[in-house]
Amino acid sequence: MNTDIVVIGGGAAGLTAGLVLARARHRVTLIDDQTYRNATVDEFHGFPTRDATSPNRFRADAMHELSSYGVAFVESTVTSVDAVGGIVRVELNNDTAITASAMLLATGVQDDLPRIEGLEPRWGKSVFNCPFCDGWEQRDRPVVVIDAGPGADHLATMLRSWTPDVTIVDADDVATLTGHGTTLDHVVLRDGTTTPATAAFVKAPVIPRSSFARQAGCALDAAGYVITDDNGATSHPLVWAAGDLRRPPPAPHQVVLAAADGSTAAIAMHKSLTAQNFDATQSKTIASGQPADTDPGSHP
Ligand SMILES: Cc1cc2nc3c(=O)[nH]c(=O)nc-3n(C[C@H](O)[C@H](O)[C@H](O)COP(=O)(O)OP(=O)(O)OC[C@H]3O[C@@H](n4cnc5c(N)ncnc54)[C@H](O)[C@@H]3O)c2cc1C
Repeated sequence: MNTDIVVIGGGAAGLTAGLVLARARHRVTLIDDQTYRNATVDEFHGFPTRDATSPNRFRADAMHELSSYGVAFVESTVTSVDAVGGIVRVELNNDTAITASAMLLATGVQDDLPRIEGLEPRWGKSVFNCPFCDGWEQRDRPVVVIDAGPGADHLATMLRSWTPDVTIVDADDVATLTGHGTTLDHVVLRDGTTTPATAAFVKAPVIPRSSFARQAGCALDAAGYVITDDNGATSHPLVWAAGDLRRPPPAPHQVVLAAADGSTAAIAMHKSLTAQNFDATQSKTIASGQPADTDPGSHP
C-alpha cells in the first residue's frame, strides 16, 4: 500500500494531523491499535465544546470527519518502521507494509503505574494523574496522592487548590484500594491505616512510546521523548512527531494540546512536502527545454 503520508497513532494528535493533511489534499493513511492513553476514562475535560466527552466518542466523531476527506484507517499494530532512501516503510502485525513519502509519529506515552491491588480497575475512573483533568470533580473532597515517582509533593501541593483534604502516601506502603465497583472510598496501608478518599492521584513515571522514532534514527532525549523543533520536525527529514511523545516534563499532557501539536506538525509537513514538489516541478520545467536553460548540465 502506498500513500503520501502515514500517521501512526489515532489519538488527538494523529487525528488532528490527519484532518489538516487530508484537507490539504494529501493522501493520508492513519494506523492505530486502540491502545490510547485515556482509554479507561469515561469523560475527558478541558477541551471547549468537548468537555466531559468520552474518548471513544471523540475518536469516532473524528474518524467520521476524516473519512469524509478520504483518510484511510488501518486498525493494526505497527511493528517496525524504517525511513531510508527517501521512502518511509511501515510494517504491520498483519504482515502488510505501507510506504509513504513522510511519516508522523503520534504514538503517545504510557503510564508506568505501581502494582497496587485495586488500582488498575479504577484507573481513569477514581484514580487519576492530573488535577487539571479531574480535580474539579473532587473539589472539597478527601483525596490521596500516591507517590510512585518524582514530583508527588508538587502534585499534592497543586491539588490543595481544589481541596484542602489531601493526604500523600508512598506507593510501597499502600496495600489496597477499596470501594464499590470502580469508585474509591478508602486507601488501605500495609500497617492497617485506612484513609477515606473519593479519588487517588498517582504520580508515576511516564514512558514515551518512541521506539519507532528510535528505529528511524530520530534523536531522543534521555527520557526517550522525541526531540523536535517547535513544529514537530524531528532530526530525520521525513519524520515528524506530535502529541505527548514529544512533550517532556514539565510540558503538560492534554488532549487540546495534543490536537494543537497535530495541527502544527501537519502544516509544517505540508510546507516541507510542497516545497520539495515545487522544486521538482521547477526542475522539470527548466529541463524540458525552456530557453533559460543555457547550461543543461546544471539540471538533472
Ligand atoms: C487517566 C487519564 C485521564 C486523562 N484525562 C484527561 C482530561 O480530562 N483532559 C485532557 O485534556 N487530557 C487528559 N489526559 C491526557 C490525554 O489522554 C493525553 O494528553 C492525550 O491522549 C494525548 O494524545 P496523543 O494523541 O498524544 O496520544 P494518545 O491519545 O495516547 O494516542 C496515541 C495512539 O497511538 C496508538 N499507537 C501507539 N503505538 C502504536 C502501534 N505500535 N501501532 C499502532 N498504533 C499505536 C495508540 O493506539 C493510541 O491511539 C488524561 C490521561 C490519563 C492517563
